[in-house]
Amino acid sequence: MPELPEVETVARSLVPQLQGRIIVSLAKLDWPKMITPPPAEFTALITGRRIETVGRRAKWLLLTLDRGWTMAIHLRMSGHLLVTEPTAAHEPHVHFALELDNGRCLIFNDQRKFGRVHLLDQQGLAALDRSHGPEPLTDDFTPDTLAQQLQHRRAPIKTLLIDQHLIAGIGNIYANEALWLAGIHPLTPGAALSPEQINHLHRAIRVVLQEAIANQGSSLRNYRDSYGQRGSQQEHFNVYDRAGKPCPRCQTLIERIVVAQRSTYFCPLCQRGMQPVT
Ligand SMILES: [Zn+2]
Repeated sequence: MPELPEVETVARSLVPQLQGRIIVSLAKLDWPKMITPPPAEFTALITGRRIETVGRRAKWLLLTLDRGWTMAIHLRMSGHLLVTEPTAAHEPHVHFALELDNGRCLIFNDQRKFGRVHLLDQQGLAALDRSHGPEPLTDDFTPDTLAQQLQHRRAPIKTLLIDQHLIAGIGNIYANEALWLAGIHPLTPGAALSPEQINHLHRAIRVVLQEAIANQGSSLRNYRDSYGQRGSQQEHFNVYDRAGKPCPRCQTLIERIVVAQRSTYFCPLCQRGMQPVT
């Protein structure tokens, strides 16, 4: 599933293609469950709207429209967005397409149909914002912020890092990579991290996310930017999906365990045991 760096990359690739464009029509919708409100209302609200900006909150793409509306798009498992010629809207896995005033289409290709498009008013946007933790790449996200979010949390730090209510945008890949970079065992309870470990983890989260953005994200399955280009961060993983391969830092073999039903990779030497909760 795309995480913060992939969604950020898609948002940045959409800006020059969508900013200032007018939505002429809902050109295709063959999976009505993916949108809210229902199709008739959705169509009435978006037709003729101007796309002011394209941004991101957590793993949501946000198309800010005029008249106070925001189109929030979640790519989920297999979704990707492309700006293309209108004929591409007829492809079998394209379930949603918007016709733009320059003759091109924004198409949502989603083989597994988990993707979502919600049209939000100001209140809806505020609710989406409130349901997510702080953005880890903003200046507001400090080691103190991270410490506050982990306070009294006894769940494994790996599980806490991917909880969107605590910190926005981190998923399985970058949680694994950040914990390796910080030298923290994934099963360590959040509340057991020392101030020094919090500092290391804070820095590691920002480093791995920034590096991934610089490489246009990780393309494992379907992920592409809105020009159809793959990212290359998957060529730089230190632990993710590298079970049995040597740790780039100490050559110890990477291990895989399952934490909260998610594959978790770590170096048993660099990320030594847990500290007891104090
Ligand atoms: Zn190691």
